[in-house]
Amino acid sequence: MEPHVKKEEAIMNFASKEAPVVRYRKVSKSFGDLTILREIDLDIAPGEKIAVIGPSGSGKTTMARLLMTLEEPSSGTIEVDGEHLWHKNVNGKLVRADEKHLHSIRGKIGMVFQHFNLFPHMSILRNVTEAPIHVLGLDKEEAIDRAITMLRKVGLADKLDHYPTQLSGGQKQRVAIARALVMRPKVMLFDEVTSALDPELVGEVLAVIREIAAEGEMAMLLITHEMDFARDVADRIIFTDGGRIVEQGTPEQIFYKPESPRLQTFLSRFR
Ligand code: ADP
Repeated sequence: MEPHVKKEEAIMNFASKEAPVVRYRKVSKSFGDLTILREIDLDIAPGEKIAVIGPSGSGKTTMARLLMTLEEPSSGTIEVDGEHLWHKNVNGKLVRADEKHLHSIRGKIGMVFQHFNLFPHMSILRNVTEAPIHVLGLDKEEAIDRAITMLRKVGLADKLDHYPTQLSGGQKQRVAIARALVMRPKVMLFDEVTSALDPELVGEVLAVIREIAAEGEMAMLLITHEMDFARDVADRIIFTDGGRIVEQGTPEQIFYKPESPRLQTFLSRFR
């Protein structure tokens, strides 16, 4: 069998089990004259773990920001759980889903950024309970219960009363992960969550993400420069360059049998 045929099958096998939780169709994004994404097609199956690798400026963060509705596509569509984030009006102009739909769609997506963006004036516990109380409408006790469970999962159950300034970068990032998880999203986006950390703190954050990934329930889109991590955690690796998905496949295919010269060159920098 041709290698590329096998690759397509590996992807289809995962994706065909259930309807995708996220679906990008011909998504393009330009800022003025600068085209960042070119006709991206991507399905994320429920529970699927996808790592996105590629050079800086290849559009990885923009892909994630579009899914969070922090940016609007120049063309194309994105669906979460079958619901469109934008649709075309009668004049052919893209219009964002109304607030009610957006609210429900956003609740299905959790995102952790490079910078933790914790609320500095709130305790760790309150950082994690704010959204469940004010966005999901949970009562305080239930929100606290959920938050403690998540903080325990990321190894910070002993820091509930601390404030962000009292924590290390790795600990803050683990709070940010708990804060996203507490909303029980269907998809988690991790955008270079370790790149702002001191090297000795990277391991503890990756370990937490590995553990969550192993639980298997949530789909994950992991934008990362940590190749070993991507290889171990992901079901599928996507390589972006110049705003396109240039190659994709299982970790074995991407890391041990890369086909495109651009991917081969990119990977050679990590050896
Ligand atoms: P990556 O995550 O692969 O590094 P990005 O998606 O962050 O790539 O960015 C791709 C390019 O888009 C970068 O060159 C960046 O400068 C540009 N870009 C991102 N956001 C904006 C914006 N709001 N306005 C103009 N250019 C932007």
